[in-house]
Amino acid sequence: MAEISLSFPDGNVKSFEDGVNALEIAKSISNSLAKKAVSGRLDGELVSLTQPLHKDGKIEILTTADAEGLQVLRQTGAQILKMAISQNFPNVLFGESEADEDGFFVDTDKPETQISVDELDGLADAMKKIIDQKLPIATEEISVDEALQLVAGDQYQEALIKDNAVNDRVFINQIGDFKALSEGVTLPDTGSVKFFKLLSVAGAYWQGKSSNPMLQRIYATAFFKEADLDEDLKQRQEARERDHRVIGNQLDLFFVDPKVGAGLPYWMPNGATIRRTLERYIIDREVESGYQHVYTPVLANLDLYKQSGHWDHYREDMFPPMDMGEGEMLELRPMNCPSHIQIYKHHIRSYRELPLRIAEIGMMHRYEKSGALSGLQRVREMELNDGHTFVALEQIEKEFQSILKLMVSVYHDFDINDYTFRLSYRDPENTEKYFDDDEMWNRAQSMLKSAMDDMGLEYTEAEGEAAFYGPKLDVQTKTALGNEETLSTIQLDFMLPEQFDLHYVGEDGEQHRPVMIHRGIISTMERFTAYLTEIYKGAFPTWLAPHQVRIIPVSEQKHGEYAEKLNEDLRRHHIRSDVDARPEKMGYLIRDAQTNKIPYTLVVGDAEMNDNTVSVRQYGHEDSKEVNFEDFVSYVQKDLESYSRA
Ligand code: ATP
Ligand code: ZN
Repeated sequence: MAEISLSFPDGNVKSFEDGVNALEIAKSISNSLAKKAVSGRLDGELVSLTQPLHKDGKIEILTTADAEGLQVLRQTGAQILKMAISQNFPNVLFGESEADEDGFFVDTDKPETQISVDELDGLADAMKKIIDQKLPIATEEISVDEALQLVAGDQYQEALIKDNAVNDRVFINQIGDFKALSEGVTLPDTGSVKFFKLLSVAGAYWQGKSSNPMLQRIYATAFFKEADLDEDLKQRQEARERDHRVIGNQLDLFFVDPKVGAGLPYWMPNGATIRRTLERYIIDREVESGYQHVYTPVLANLDLYKQSGHWDHYREDMFPPMDMGEGEMLELRPMNCPSHIQIYKHHIRSYRELPLRIAEIGMMHRYEKSGALSGLQRVREMELNDGHTFVALEQIEKEFQSILKLMVSVYHDFDINDYTFRLSYRDPENTEKYFDDDEMWNRAQSMLKSAMDDMGLEYTEAEGEAAFYGPKLDVQTKTALGNEETLSTIQLDFMLPEQFDLHYVGEDGEQHRPVMIHRGIISTMERFTAYLTEIYKGAFPTWLAPHQVRIIPVSEQKHGEYAEKLNEDLRRHHIRSDVDARPEKMGYLIRDAQTNKIPYTLVVGDAEMNDNTVSVRQYGHEDSKEVNFEDFVSYVQKDLESYSRA
C-alpha cells in the first residue's frame, strides 16, 4: 500500500496510508482532538474530515475554536438550508451561497412569488428535522456534464457549475437524496449545526449586477455554542436599533425612494433642521479659523474636468456629460476643487494672502454603484463641507496642523471619540488611477507622515486609498453595521496647481507655485448626519435635536392658550418648540415625546397656568420638576450654549 508523508505544525512528520482522511489523522493524535475536529487544511487548503488525501504536504487539523472552523460549520448550514428550501419549495432555483465571518446566505429564485420573511420559521423547522437526523454529508467529484444534468433548468446553478469547474470536474454534496454543488468544505454530517438562526430576507442581484434579475437572499448564522449565538443575535439587534436608516424612519428625518432616484435622499423637516444646524455650526467655526465662504455652480463645462484630470482618472464615478448641442458639453461636478481653483485664479494673488482658505458647503454628484448605496451614508448627490487652502511650500506643515486642530476641536463639540487616523497612499503599480509623478508622490507622502509623527499621533497606512492627485490623511469611523467609512479628510496636492498653472507673487516679486490642501471637516452633510444619528442613537443633543421642547396642555380647552403663549415665547428665544394638544391620554402624549427623543417635555395645567410655571420632564428621565417658566428658558439657553453656535 502506498504511503503519504504529512508534516504537522509542530514540525513532526508522519507517514499515513494513501487515502487517509483528516478525521483518521486527528484520531491518531488523540480522541479529544478528533471530537473537536471540524476540517483539515492541507498545504493551506481546506479539506473535509472525510475527504481521502493522496499527497504529501503540511497538514493541520482545524477545530471548533478556529475561525475557519466556524466557516465550515456555516457552509454546512448553507447546504442544510438549501435542502430545507428544496423540500418546502420544490421549484425553487438557487443562486450563490456563501459562508463567512458574518454568517451565511443562500440566494433563491422562486417562480411566481419569492420566498418571504414569513416563511423563515417553516424553513427553520425543516432544517431542524434534517439536523436531528444527523444525516451523513457525502462529497463526490463528478464531471461538469453530469453536474449540469443534475441541475437542468436552473440557469443560475448551470452558470455556477461552469464557474467552479476545475479540469471539467466539480464537487457536489449529497445529503439523503438531496444533491447540490459544493461551494466549500462541510462537516461530515448534519448533526453539528445545532445553534443557528435564519435572520432575514433581502433582494440581491444575481452576480451583484443591477442589470441582472433580483434574487431573494436568505441571511442566517450558526455557531458551535449556544452562548455565542445569543451574543451575536444581541449585537445584531443593537446594531439594527442604531442603524441610521431605521432611526431616520422613526424620527422622520429623511427617505430615499429608488423609484424616484436611488441614492438621492429627500430630507424631511426634522432631518433638514439637523442639517441646517450643522451647516451653520461648521461655517461659523470656519469663519473663526480664517476661511472665506463662496458659492459655485454644480455644473461646468466638461473641459474644466478634462483640465483637472477628473475626466481621465475619476470618470467611472462621474455622471455622463450632458450634450447641449453645438459642441457644448456640461458636467455635474464630482468634486469642488476645480471650482475653488477658479475663485483663486480670478485675482492675482500675493504671498500676503496665503494661506488663502476658500470654503463652501458644495454640492457634488457621484455615480456610486447601486449596491454600495446606503441611506444617507453613501449617496449619489451630496453636499461636502469642503475647503481648499492655498499655501506656500513652507506653510504646508503649519496649515496641516491647524486643520487637524480644527478637526479635533469639532470632534470634541460632537463628542466623537471613536476614530482612527489613516494615511492613504497611492498604489505605485496603478498608473491608470494615479497621477504619474514619482517625485511628487514621495514628497507629499513623506510630508504627511512627518507632520503626523511630529504631532505624536498614531495612524495606520493604506496603499491604494489616495486621491488621484495626492496622498491624504483620512479619519476612519465605524458605522452601526460595522463598516469602516471615512469621515474627515486632509489631502495634499501638488498636481492641480500645476494643471491650472496657479501662481502667487512672492516677497521677491517673482511668481511662485502654491500648494493646495483639500480638506473636509464634517464630511458630507449626508454622511455626517448618518454618523451622528448612529452614535447618538437618535437622541440628539439639545442644540441638534429637531424638536427641542414639546408642550402638552392637560386640557386643550383650559390650558391651550397658555401652552401657545409659552410656545411663542420659546420660539422668540430661538428654541424649537411645539404644542401637542391632540385629544389623547396624557400618558400617551408623554410617551410619544419620549419616542421622538425630544429633550424637554412640558406639561401645563391649572397649577402651572396660575403660577406661571411648567412641569418639566427631561428625555430619558422618569420624574418631572416644577419650575418657573423664565428659569426654564434660561436653563435651555445654557444647555444650548454648551455646543450651539447656531
Ligand atoms: P470614499 O472612499 O468614502 O468613497 P472618497 O475618498 O472618494 O470617499 P473624497 O473625494 O475624499 O471621498 O470626499 C470627501 C468626503 O466626502 C469623504 O471623506 C466622505 O466623508 C464623503 N463622501 C464621499 N463619497 C460619499 C458618498 N457617496 N456619500 C456620502 N458621503 C460621501
Ligand atoms: Zn478638493
